[in-house]
Amino acid sequence: SLLTTTDPSGSLGWSTSPGHASKPRVKACFVILTRNSELAGLETSIRQLEQQFNHRHHYPYVILNDEPFAPELERSVRGLTGGANTTFGVIPQEHWGYPSWINQTQAADARRRMANVMYGGSESYRHMCRFESGFFFRHPLLAEFDYYWRVEPGVQFTCAIDYDPFVFMHERDIKYGFTISLKEIPATVESLWPATLDYMRQNRAMVPIDNTLAWVVDPDIPSTYNLCHFWSNFEIASLAFFRSEQYLSYFNHLDRAGGFYYERWGDAPVHSLAATMFLRRDQIHWFQDIGYVHASYENCPSDPVINSEKCTCNPRRSVDRVSFSCTREFMHLTPEDRLDVDGLL
Ligand code: GDP
Ligand code: MN
Repeated sequence: SLLTTTDPSGSLGWSTSPGHASKPRVKACFVILTRNSELAGLETSIRQLEQQFNHRHHYPYVILNDEPFAPELERSVRGLTGGANTTFGVIPQEHWGYPSWINQTQAADARRRMANVMYGGSESYRHMCRFESGFFFRHPLLAEFDYYWRVEPGVQFTCAIDYDPFVFMHERDIKYGFTISLKEIPATVESLWPATLDYMRQNRAMVPIDNTLAWVVDPDIPSTYNLCHFWSNFEIASLAFFRSEQYLSYFNHLDRAGGFYYERWGDAPVHSLAATMFLRRDQIHWFQDIGYVHASYENCPSDPVINSEKCTCNPRRSVDRVSFSCTREFMHLTPEDRLDVDGLL
């Protein structure tokens, strides 16, 4: 069957958990896309997440894979998630693979042309990026949830998280939370910005006046993309945002344009451009206080009190301090930076 479910907590409902019957909870879960070969990294990620945060909350885990799960992986994950409900979902074929209008010969040419770009020669990476851009939020196992926290195998959480980020977001109407922002590799997204401008021209009414586009438009060369994006291997976000008519119409537009295959559009710039088009600055949040490590880069709180009390990371290694991060610019954005979309188009 497509879905398998374990519920070690039995009949416990959403609004109750042992000992915290009155604690507010939102309908939220962790989502981890993984390959069977990544079990060791999956174990590290879950262990740290449980230790730093979830052993106090028992938010459920949804584990996704484009292939049937190895029984060993399911067994091991269930052993680590303890009191949290854990479900394993195989991704439907129509969410992982070429749509009918993609010319696969042209896609293969693009992979050859981009063999020297990171993941540029990979077909599976492109299916993954398209899935994470347009389909993860449609998986049946996510239907009951309002928020998700994306986790990847092999990441680290280096600070105690002693509040509930889901509740934090829900109470403030925050739709998208990130830890790290970076600049994308230009060759992977050459036509993503032109396609996004096309989308805005054709769907002008979808883009509100108080958008956050100022963050992604180069101030020196107007109407160009500065390559800034939120790194999507960590995300805490609203599923309603991704299921919205705005987001879906944007994804469909990009999917038709074909850049997931004819270039190598990542889900990070796609999510980010959508967030900056459709959300206000105050609906996007930098979780500066969540210590997080993913290969190559990390986020580490600079506040000396927070850092010494809760973290094991070195703030001097935090990527927000370097020039190829865009987080400083994000934090400096004010309502006056609002971009005139008509001027852009
Ligand atoms: P990077 O973070 O861009 O370097 O790419 P990763 O290799 O970490 O892949 C991103 C996410 O997609 C991770 O959660 C991977 O486990 C997952 N992923 C990537 N390729 C595949 C694949 O072919 N199958 C499955 N099931 N997951 C994949
Ligand atoms: Mn990764």
